[in-house]
Amino acid sequence: MQTRLSKFVKNEPEYRDLETILRSCVHCGFCNATCPTYQLLGDELDGPRGRIYLLKQMLVGYPVSALAQRHLDRCLSCRSCESTCPSGVRYGRLLDLGRVMVESRVRRPWLDRARRSLMLRVFPHARRFALFMRLGWLLRPLLPRAVQRKLPERQERQSWPEARHGRKMLIFRGCVQESLRPAIDFTAARILQDLGISLLRVKSTGCCGALNYHLSDHERALAFARSNIDACWPYVEQGAEAIVMTASGCGLMVKEYAQLLRHDRHYAQKAARLSAMAKDISEILAGEDLSCFSRARTASVVFQSPCTLQHGQKLSDVVEALLEKAGYQLTSVADAHLCCGSAGVYALLQPDLAGRLLQDKLQALQAGEPDIIATANIGCLNHLQSASPVAVKHWLELLP
Ligand code: SF4
Ligand code: SF4
Repeated sequence: MQTRLSKFVKNEPEYRDLETILRSCVHCGFCNATCPTYQLLGDELDGPRGRIYLLKQMLVGYPVSALAQRHLDRCLSCRSCESTCPSGVRYGRLLDLGRVMVESRVRRPWLDRARRSLMLRVFPHARRFALFMRLGWLLRPLLPRAVQRKLPERQERQSWPEARHGRKMLIFRGCVQESLRPAIDFTAARILQDLGISLLRVKSTGCCGALNYHLSDHERALAFARSNIDACWPYVEQGAEAIVMTASGCGLMVKEYAQLLRHDRHYAQKAARLSAMAKDISEILAGEDLSCFSRARTASVVFQSPCTLQHGQKLSDVVEALLEKAGYQLTSVADAHLCCGSAGVYALLQPDLAGRLLQDKLQALQAGEPDIIATANIGCLNHLQSASPVAVKHWLELLP
């Protein structure tokens, strides 16, 4: 499809990407059928085809309106449309690049700016977030019930297993997961220890950068990426086998470091190496002998596959197979491709839509009357847990 991009875009390093993506869309509209926001709102501009149209209008030089920004804000970045698109349109990439340009052209109301700025100042920073959570737990009895439900129970930290094996893998310190659910990474370390692999937590690593990237703060997102690469590099040179990701959202981001830093002459090669080494923990465990975790179990489980796992990393049915091997009976879930509404900070920025998606998702998950809901991303876990009568866990917590 012929597209003449405006002069201001031609100076962008990502110009070729934008042009290729826009040209690959044939406007068939198949993607609308699997778009959660289109299904909820029924407005063409709240579906992928309409959003591509809005972004294209801007990129060929038309002014951008606050209305267009609102339709783009409602997008979950879930990439369900990418899984459906027969033309292979990389919508997520287009959205990430386009949103930055929209951001520089449309000034948000001050309250929205303040809210976003606060999130960026707290959530990606482990220490600040830990302080924020401690304050939340302290004030819990005084908080409204709706907020109380969103605060998870406090978990005690366990001691990290000693690194005694020849096989070594790395894990980032991360940002919010360490406070919200420290048991996930400790469980990963214990499971790998039992399999003869030492999991080293690289202290000077931090947030993967996904939150900043998706809130159009690309500069700081890439700064996080570079800092993580620097922190891991000595271990990579010493022969670490993999970077283990226990949150699928972060895993997707690290797998994309290669693409995001490919124009950086100092970091491009290292980023490519780190991305190639980044593996979701399910990919690692699928290649190991897990017979020591296999036993007869009575609990039934339903797995909520996060969008970042199934649409982003294209890892479908891997966790489900591991849970079945471990002895769990899995119940099925209708419309498994649809987002639960968590989507990073989407649930905070778009609470009404996120709440509707959450109710639909919980209904679908509970249809088979499972004892446990399992997932693979801390954001989804917290979001589902805030309204679920059934226990919600990271699937790793079910293995030992
Ligand atoms: S993104 Fe893909 S599915 Fe959607 S309208 Fe374009 S070509 Fe069709
Ligand atoms: S990323 Fe998700 S919400 Fe956004 S347009 Fe695609 S399917 Fe719809």
